[in-house]
Amino acid sequence: MRIAVISDIHANLPALDAVVAAAGAIDAWWHCGDVVGYGPHPNEVVARLRELDAVGVMGNHDAAALGSPIIEWFNPYAAEAALWTRRTLTEDARAWLAALPEQVVVDGWTIVHGSARDPLQEYVTSPSVALATMRHVPTRTTLCGHTHVPKAWRADETMQVVEDGGSIGAGPLALEGGLWLLNPGSVGQPRDGDRRAAAMVLDTAAGTATWLRAAYPIAATQAAIRRAGLPERLAARLDVGR
Ligand code: ZN
Repeated sequence: MRIAVISDIHANLPALDAVVAAAGAIDAWWHCGDVVGYGPHPNEVVARLRELDAVGVMGNHDAAALGSPIIEWFNPYAAEAALWTRRTLTEDARAWLAALPEQVVVDGWTIVHGSARDPLQEYVTSPSVALATMRHVPTRTTLCGHTHVPKAWRADETMQVVEDGGSIGAGPLALEGGLWLLNPGSVGQPRDGDRRAAAMVLDTAAGTATWLRAAYPIAATQAAIRRAGLPERLAARLDVGR
């Protein structure tokens, strides 16, 4: 099976469509949350994920768009976009988002947005937090998003966490030995300095993960952000991938 893993789409339809085109033949689509927020296409992105029959979890921006008080933690740009998304979502899209769980297990993989112990808020940015998530889940392999940065963590038999980010983009990563925690990066708002949409493909027969980047028409998303009256900063940051 070839499984596409995507995260932090953030209502950026051109970016999602570029990833769909770049991924090739895919048997299943999994997502790590933040389907909406920041971007101008919340209903269109939900519709596309439904077409793909995508399985996934809720992110903090999805929760904020549904009315969660989590919005109080947001910076002013994120909060303004969340309030716009609340007003813009159709009843249909809202119901689909509201049905997303905070954690799901599929085919031996656990999927969360942030960390396993705090799925909506905690960022996995250090070995200790990565290890906490690996110990918290019922599976050997875990997928997360939230940081918008592609990453691979491995904990070996002595439970020492190894950051394996150097392999990212350099071909398939063999998921051998120990526990793994993988972040595909962000489709709709990358923050690793590469403005292309990020995603990952799991090959279950080969036991590998391969990260991919897809260029997309950023100007189209920026124009839609401006038409919607969303903060200019949200359009500008797409140019730099930060
Ligand atoms: Zn996000």
